[in-house]
Amino acid sequence: MTMSESLFQRALRIAPGGVHSPVRAFKSVGGTPVFFQKAEGARLQSVEGHWLIDFCQSFGPLILGHRDPEVAGAVKEMIDTAWSFGACEPYSLELAEWMTGRLPWLEKVRFVSSGTEAVMSALRVARAATGRSKIVKFEGCYHGHADSLLVKAGSGLAGAAASDSAGVSAEVAAETLVAPLDDEAGFDEVLDLHDGRVAAVIIEPLPANYGLLEQRREFLEHVARKTRAAGALLIFDEVISGFRVALGGMAELTGLRPDLVTYGKVIGGGFPVGAYGGRREVMDLVAPSGPVYQAGTLSANPVGMRAGLATLAKVEREGVYGALEARAARFAAKLQAELRAQGRDISVARRGSVFWLRAGEGPVRRLADIPKDHAERFRGLFHACLEEGVYLAPSGYEVGFIGYAHTDEVLDEAVAAIARASRALG
Ligand SMILES: *Cc1c(COP(=O)(O)O)cnc(C)c1O
Repeated sequence: MTMSESLFQRALRIAPGGVHSPVRAFKSVGGTPVFFQKAEGARLQSVEGHWLIDFCQSFGPLILGHRDPEVAGAVKEMIDTAWSFGACEPYSLELAEWMTGRLPWLEKVRFVSSGTEAVMSALRVARAATGRSKIVKFEGCYHGHADSLLVKAGSGLAGAAASDSAGVSAEVAAETLVAPLDDEAGFDEVLDLHDGRVAAVIIEPLPANYGLLEQRREFLEHVARKTRAAGALLIFDEVISGFRVALGGMAELTGLRPDLVTYGKVIGGGFPVGAYGGRREVMDLVAPSGPVYQAGTLSANPVGMRAGLATLAKVEREGVYGALEARAARFAAKLQAELRAQGRDISVARRGSVFWLRAGEGPVRRLADIPKDHAERFRGLFHACLEEGVYLAPSGYEVGFIGYAHTDEVLDEAVAAIARASRALG
């Protein structure tokens, strides 16, 4: 038995499925999860001592790679200063000013401890602001595990949702409506059918949790316009895209202005930080200035605030988005050429430093466009990559992340390794 196998046996006895977040368990790729003991830059070290090139990057937060020296310095300094105050402090103020000073749609912000919490709170604010109760989400977007968003398209009238997790009541699921991505008429139908009852429309402007389902700008613009016309608030869930595809995420890249926006992942530089914010008058509804209750014992934790600010400051100062775009484009082109040369029917979809390996060609904008055998085919490629020293997120529906620590040299090494893995599949 390998060390990972014996650790997983122990973990299975004390945690559900042996893990503390489901996708880590390798259920969709099969086999035993690799246990890691150390991380540095673009690489992870397994408990067996093997170093692997890491494209999971903790599912997105680590835009500078693991343990960037500058971020590490800020964290160590904070550890020697204070860990948590539960009181007012200047550290969250600095990060909040940094963000609001750069993102015009973010007039006021509130820090929380995860993306889920940010989304859950934004929905509550939207309901309070409009006095309405329904929320519209899109099929193929993920917004964390708040009850009201663990829903899927139901079989009834347009927009009807059904619970997508045991423990989410039919009553809660019924408060959410599900619209199709990339379909103006389908979205309009849902909004028109529930005219006057929709508090908010929430969307990942770059859907990246069921593969990479990049949307047409015209579709996003239509959603924004129609949402406003219906008197509902537009929520951009930029937990994955915010500070990742650009400093201002998709709001910056599309020029579209959300009423509320949620952040997470990159904003904490690898520590548990989330945030929601938006227009001043909407955010002023939040306690203690307004009637919407929302609180957190460890909210705006200073270590996370320092890690976040150090990360974002370096990203801005070193022009990281330009570098990532160039490296990721080069990587994707080289990898695509290798796979084509082998006659493999795999496309490298990419937006900035976010990429997704998938079966088939042509744009994939909806869940239903993903080839049926995608997950099964990914399984083989995933394990072959692992053998060759490349760690992809252990599910065909997760995207890959390129960080600032992935130099061209590291990426060339990865292309060669993935090409060998693909060849080994025969
Ligand atoms: C990751 C993610 C979330 C949930 O964030 P957690 O920190 O895992 O709770 C919500 N929305 C989007 C778009 C995400 O990518």
